[in-house]
Amino acid sequence: MDYIDLRSDTITKPTPEMREAMAKAEVGDDVYGEDPTVNRLQELAAEMTGKEAGLFVASGTMGNLAGILAHCGRGDEVILGNKAHTFLFEAGGISALGGVHSCQLPNQPDGSLALEDVEAAIRPDDPHDPVTRLICLENTHNRCGGVYQTPEYTRRVAEFAHARGLAVHLDGARVFNAAAAQGIDVKELTAPVDSVTFCLSKGLCAPVGSVLCGSKEFIKKAHRLRKMLGGGMRQAGILAAAGIVALETMTVRLAEDHARARKLADGLKQVPGLVLQAGSPATNMVFVSLDASVPHSVEFVRTRLEERGVLLGVTGARQFRLVLHYWIDDAGVEQAVAAFREAVR
Ligand SMILES: *Cc1c(COP(=O)(O)O)cnc(C)c1O
Repeated sequence: MDYIDLRSDTITKPTPEMREAMAKAEVGDDVYGEDPTVNRLQELAAEMTGKEAGLFVASGTMGNLAGILAHCGRGDEVILGNKAHTFLFEAGGISALGGVHSCQLPNQPDGSLALEDVEAAIRPDDPHDPVTRLICLENTHNRCGGVYQTPEYTRRVAEFAHARGLAVHLDGARVFNAAAAQGIDVKELTAPVDSVTFCLSKGLCAPVGSVLCGSKEFIKKAHRLRKMLGGGMRQAGILAAAGIVALETMTVRLAEDHARARKLADGLKQVPGLVLQAGSPATNMVFVSLDASVPHSVEFVRTRLEERGVLLGVTGARQFRLVLHYWIDDAGVEQAVAAFREAVR
C-alpha cells in the first residue's frame, strides 16, 4: 500500500533532482577539506543564514551537540527550555559527552523562554555555581506544536544575552519553516544569534544531514568537535549535493506545506469527535485530540487509520500529530480526513 505518511517530515525521500545531483556530485576527502560539494553547501548555508561559516554534520543532534560543546566547556551551564529537543530527545549528549550542565526553564506555550526566567537563572559569580555560558532557543518549536518564534523575540533574547556576556545557539531544525510561516528571510531569525543548526533532511527533503553555522572561529572549534564525535565524513559531497538542491529549491516551497496543514486542520475540525489544538497549525504540524465522545483509545484509532492507509504520530493519551511535507498532496489531505471520519466512529 502507498501510505499517506504524516508521522513526520523526517520520512521525506530525496526528489529526482536530488538523486541526479547526488549521482553527478564532484567529491573529495572532506576530512582534508577537499570535497568541493561539501564546501559549496557550507558556503551556501553560511550565506543564507548570515554567518561567516558552516559545517556539514550527520544530523541535527550532532549539530546541536558540536555547537553547544563549542560554546561551553565541562561544568559550564546552558539555559534551555524544558521542552527543548536538545533537552528531551538528544540522548542527554551535552551532559554525557560534553559535561555541560543544563538549566531547564519552562517553555511558554508559544515555545519561548520568558526573559524574567532567564534573568533569574543566570548564575552569580560564586564558586558554588556553574558558569552560565549559553542560551539555547528552538525555532520552530517541535514539542510546543511547531510554533514559530519571531525576529523581534530572537533579537530581544540575543541582545539580552550579549549584554550579559552569554552566547545564543538556535536549534533551527525547522527554521526555514519558521521563516516561510512569517514570509521573511531566514536571516532575520538566524543573524541575531551566535550559532544555528538547521536540518536538510526534514521538510527540505534531503536524505541526510544538517548544517551548523556561526563565526569562522566558532566553526573551527566545532570542526574539531565533529571529528571527535566521529562525524568526520569522507566523500560526503554525495550527500551535500542533495543539501544544495534542498537549499536552492525546497526552502521556497515550504509555505505550500503550511497551506496544506491548514487545509487538513480545517477538514479535521469538521469531524465529530476531533478537537484541534488551539493555534494549530502554526506551520507544518497539526495537533488534534479525541474528545470524550470517542469511545476508542488513540492506539485503536491509529490502527484503524493505518488500515486505511494513513500513518500519523501519537503524542499524548488522546492526541495525534500530523506533519505535512513535500510528499503529501491535496488528495492525500482529503484521504486523511476521510479516513479519520471512519476511524473515530
Ligand atoms: C529533528 C530535530 C532535531 C535533530 O534531529 P536529528 O534526528 O538528529 O536530525 C533537532 N531539533 C529539533 C527541534 C528537531 O525537530
